[in-house]
Amino acid sequence: MSGARKVYIKSFGCQMNVYDSHRMADTLAPEGFAETTTPEDADLVILNTCHIREKAAEKVYSELGRVRLIKQAAAREGRRVTVAVAGCVAQAEGAEIIRRAPSVDLVVGPQSYHRLPTLLARATRGERPIDTEFPVEDKFDVLAAPSREATRRRGVSAFVTVQEGCDKFCTFCVVPYTRGAETSRPVAKIVTEAERLADAGVREITLIGQNVNAYHGEGPDGRAWTLGRLLHRIAEVPGIARLRYMTSHPGDMEDSLIAAHGDLPALMPYLHLPVQSGSDRILAAMNRRHTRADYLDVIARVRTAQPAIVFSSDFIVGFPGETEDDFAATLSLVDEVGYAGAYSFKYSARPGTPAAEMTDQIPDDVKAERLARLQHAIERHQADFNARCRGRTFDVLFEKPGRHPGQIVGRSPYLQAVQVMAEAALIGDVEPVTITEVSANSLFGTLARPAPARAPLLMQAGG
Ligand code: SF4
Repeated sequence: MSGARKVYIKSFGCQMNVYDSHRMADTLAPEGFAETTTPEDADLVILNTCHIREKAAEKVYSELGRVRLIKQAAAREGRRVTVAVAGCVAQAEGAEIIRRAPSVDLVVGPQSYHRLPTLLARATRGERPIDTEFPVEDKFDVLAAPSREATRRRGVSAFVTVQEGCDKFCTFCVVPYTRGAETSRPVAKIVTEAERLADAGVREITLIGQNVNAYHGEGPDGRAWTLGRLLHRIAEVPGIARLRYMTSHPGDMEDSLIAAHGDLPALMPYLHLPVQSGSDRILAAMNRRHTRADYLDVIARVRTAQPAIVFSSDFIVGFPGETEDDFAATLSLVDEVGYAGAYSFKYSARPGTPAAEMTDQIPDDVKAERLARLQHAIERHQADFNARCRGRTFDVLFEKPGRHPGQIVGRSPYLQAVQVMAEAALIGDVEPVTITEVSANSLFGTLARPAPARAPLLMQAGG
């Protein structure tokens, strides 16, 4: 057999895609593929694409232009490079990708990754397979498990997909079309995956799904479990110190999930809860199925359960028909909640979604001006929150070496990066840190107690 083949996977977009990219790499490992971070070295290049952002498909085509040059250079050296397009753009564009980008050898949608080895074999035979089906078999049953080595290389914090797809049909969103209807993985399979990750040194698990709090997977008792119940079960896995979950819909914040925020010390006091707009008129046009008051009620209930909680959110500005009054309602919501951070974007039409057909589209300069005002407000609240962290002591999960010698970097409970001068042996540990300095993107601190003596944990590759 020739030496190990190499696969380069470029992930665009959300955590779901990062997770899917890992699972693709795991599935290709038994086929003799080792991961590389250098596309020029690769025998297989996979672009794992995202359809959420503006001009997503165009960005993929321009990236494919760069990949084509790599493929041509390899061919001049007598080396064949296979090019695959995966993810939501693959799902949405299908055969169009092969038509527009002749360098692409195969197209695979998000529900068919487990078929990659078969698709690759077909591509090797000169076919150009396209698989954008929603297969009846569960891809999670077929996908290979990550090796211990792969898990260690990926670090002490891991994602686990527990739910896919969405039934909400917000009028701006492609997810219900690209990822299909809501499905939840059974509890037992998620627990097994969490145990395997913990065994390989993972300390923090983020349960992910397009609409994760709609989770309703089958429990060991044969009944549908809520996300709250699932979190309780994962918290029992030895070695798992921290839990998070994303992305949630405000309408699916059910009681057991809200209670978990108070009951589970492992569940971090940071909740990403997208609202998109502060205006009821726009929320209705978005088909969000909740009002501003409903959203604020959820926030209040989570705060009652866990007074230390902080929130982040997603916002869309310039949705069709958005007036200055609607936008002012969004700004006032930002002030009312006082987010610790948030993502905000200009509305951009996604072909095939109802909002793309709405006639009252907002001019780009108006959107840009509103976005700048919104981002200014969000940054102000984020800076306030970070400033209030100065002098506080909280637990930090150390993840990797820092940029400077002798420094290591971890995450606060609120997902802020925290830089500390300390031994690399602490990577993988949760230690109390007193915050001494705050900058725009990082906190700086000192260990609040002497580091425990221990043998180094061989967790991170490289520096
Ligand atoms: S709930 Fe989220 S994923 Fe589902 S349609 Fe709305 S924005 Fe898209």
